[in-house]
Amino acid sequence: MTNIVVIGAGYSGLIAAHRLARRTDAQVTIVNASPHFVERIRLHQHAAGTNLRVRPLAESVRGTGIDLVIGRVQALDPRGKTIDVDGRLIGYDTLVYALGSVADDHGIPGVAENAFTVSDHTDATRLRESLPRKGTVTVIGGGLTAIEAATELAEQHPHLHVRIVAGHAPGSRLSARARQHLGRVFSRLGIEVRTGARVAKVLADSVVLTDGVELPTDVTVWTTGFRVSALARDAGVETDHSGRILVDGTQRSVSHPDIYAIGDSAVVRVDGQELRMACATAEPMAEYTAKAIAARLRGQEPRAFGYRYHIQCISLGRRDGLVQVVDALDRPKERVITGRVGALIKEGIVRGAGWTALR
Ligand SMILES: Cc1cc2nc3c(=O)[nH]c(=O)nc-3n(C[C@H](O)[C@H](O)[C@H](O)COP(=O)(O)OP(=O)(O)OC[C@H]3O[C@@H](n4cnc5c(N)ncnc54)[C@H](O)[C@@H]3O)c2cc1C
Repeated sequence: MTNIVVIGAGYSGLIAAHRLARRTDAQVTIVNASPHFVERIRLHQHAAGTNLRVRPLAESVRGTGIDLVIGRVQALDPRGKTIDVDGRLIGYDTLVYALGSVADDHGIPGVAENAFTVSDHTDATRLRESLPRKGTVTVIGGGLTAIEAATELAEQHPHLHVRIVAGHAPGSRLSARARQHLGRVFSRLGIEVRTGARVAKVLADSVVLTDGVELPTDVTVWTTGFRVSALARDAGVETDHSGRILVDGTQRSVSHPDIYAIGDSAVVRVDGQELRMACATAEPMAEYTAKAIAARLRGQEPRAFGYRYHIQCISLGRRDGLVQVVDALDRPKERVITGRVGALIKEGIVRGAGWTALR
């Protein structure tokens, strides 16, 4: 019997495992560091104090025939076709690599020691437990995660002064109408925005900018992008400069045809454009990859993965949201949906993403 091992039970890995168990006769094993499915796209909510539902992976795979292994993948041996899970070797015929990403500190001094992230559950929990009753929280970054984290923290903790520090205006890739709405939300929630700033280092009680300005802070939240683990690159799998696996049009490693990569771990190009690291791209990739593997097991050649963007959804606390309509290449159109309706759409999408992965 073919042995398919999926590593990582986040949005993409869990979907791939479920679909593979349903579509093939293979023995499917899924390996994950934590016994729970982490709704990563809600981690800014968790950090701000919202209690998330606990979702045991054992419940998700019950009755599916999927073998669940809880442990950390320490190494990959593509020649021997094994993975090392905390010292235990597990063999595979086909490997689906779905280890996601972690926050990228870009090598800035003091980030690892003095800043928090909302990128993984442990760190978001540490942030939640470290929020003072009064004082300043400085969110570094101007992307969507920074916007979601800052608005959530400001809404849930009105006694805190929340400040965004970024090189460019937050949401600079959104439409003019979207940016106007963000401006209104920031001022309603009392969020200070400081742009044109580059961080030189993060200290325990301040953020030091490259121009020498020192911003006192009680807590620093680092949200300047994601990076992946070095596991694939260390194993000799072909990756880009950042360690993400290079795949062909069917999500298959260009160097190791028995390895498929999905989600944040893979560099995926559709019509020449690299897809962004997102749950929105990870889930369709996983659905597709399960179909592609199943087709190959039947001796058929799958068609290449296709994807087009429709919207970007951003939460702005629990009572406001922003849905930015985009074109197929993820470029913003003028159309936006904001306010309560925007928040409801975003909540629906977040729920749907978790539901799809777990079932
Ligand atoms: C706060 C926040 C908000 C976000 N909001 C959005 C949004 O609104 N829309 C959107 O599209 N995207 C959003 N994203 C991005 C999205 O979360 C990721 O792109 C998505 O989770 C990628 O899915 P994945 O399956 O590749 O990885 P993940 O969902 O991160 O899953 C990876 C899994 O691998 C496990 N793992 C990692 N290393 C090991 C190891 N060595 N051994 C065993 N297991 C391991 C992890 O524990 C995890 O379970 C957000 C991210 C954050 C942090």
